[in-house]
Amino acid sequence: MHTWNPGDRVAHATFGTGAVIEQSHDYVIVHFDSYGRKKMALRYAVLTASDGAARAPEQRRAGSSSERPTDVGYENLNEQVMQRRIGAAWTSAADAVYVLKCKRCDAEYGVRAADILLRRCPGCMDASAGLPIEP
Ligand SMILES: [Zn+2]
Repeated sequence: MHTWNPGDRVAHATFGTGAVIEQSHDYVIVHFDSYGRKKMALRYAVLTASDGAARAPEQRRAGSSSERPTDVGYENLNEQVMQRRIGAAWTSAADAVYVLKCKRCDAEYGVRAADILLRRCPGCMDASAGLPIEP
């Protein structure tokens, strides 16, 4: 049985390309680019590794090391780009806040590290408001 890691790019015959969110011993959750989040039984899910060719070209620019969600410049599945990590009196080091910027409307807002991968824009995508990025 193939083991997928969070963030792995995969392809599915029906749903197309997507990114693995998590896998347990009997199911895998994938966020498909066109269909959104799907939870599938592993024994029936036929997934193949995708090299990410379906991604926007700017995410594959030469020399870019922005492959981890917490890296500056990382762009998630919803065109939200990691800007910077902020540490301030109102954020403890253990609860670092990361600033995302929307490529569509330029909105900037704070999120936790775990939310970067799938965050949607509170400005133009009807998502919940972000964390404050200024005191
Ligand atoms: Zn936006």
